[in-house]
Amino acid sequence: MTSLRHRLRDFIDIFSPRYCAVCGCRLNTTEQILCAGCRMRLPYMRIDDFYDNPISRLFWAKIPVEKAASFIHYKHDSDSHLLLMQLKYNHRPDIGRSMGEVMAQDLQRRGFFQDIDAIVPIPLHWKRFWKRGYNQSMQLAMGINKVTRIPILGKAVRRVRNNESQTSKSFQERMENVDDLFEAKPITPYRHILIVDDVLTTSATMLACAKALLDKNPGISMSILTLAKA
Ligand SMILES: [Zn+2]
Repeated sequence: MTSLRHRLRDFIDIFSPRYCAVCGCRLNTTEQILCAGCRMRLPYMRIDDFYDNPISRLFWAKIPVEKAASFIHYKHDSDSHLLLMQLKYNHRPDIGRSMGEVMAQDLQRRGFFQDIDAIVPIPLHWKRFWKRGYNQSMQLAMGINKVTRIPILGKAVRRVRNNESQTSKSFQERMENVDDLFEAKPITPYRHILIVDDVLTTSATMLACAKALLDKNPGISMSILTLAKA
């Protein structure tokens, strides 16, 4: 940040102070979303091999996944839980954009985005979108786009059913519950898609979205990126 922008930020912070999304302490001029301490303490996954890791293995033999990564571990009653809750339920789309940027800066240094030519954020059902006012996965995609310039295909997939909460269901029930959850369009000329979501829990939603895309676009390659992994 230039010194002029620093001074402007200082000035704005006096009248409209910003607070850490996790611990609530006041942020200084150079901090975004999280204070330095909370940012350091986040439970980073630090995935080295993008082709063979606990995320990519969830999709083996189900869909043709090239690369897969999640940025942080999601644990209940932890800093990562607080961060995700703020992103989804406290009207903080800025957390999505900022974390998308942070995640993309780290992964770009390590070649994660090579060969990927478009980003597809997992869509919300329109009713949920209307209630929340934004799609947190789209916000993450916008942060990634800011760093990588990879285009976002925001209308490639539509969520046609508003599935109830997945948390109290068995894996089988979850898989059945996401059947026909999405409808996709042809995405020519794009050949390698990065599907982006906020949290990966059972992989059922991600799989349903990937299958919908494959159904309309046979032969495309897919990679997967989520902010957190439960
Ligand atoms: Zn903090």
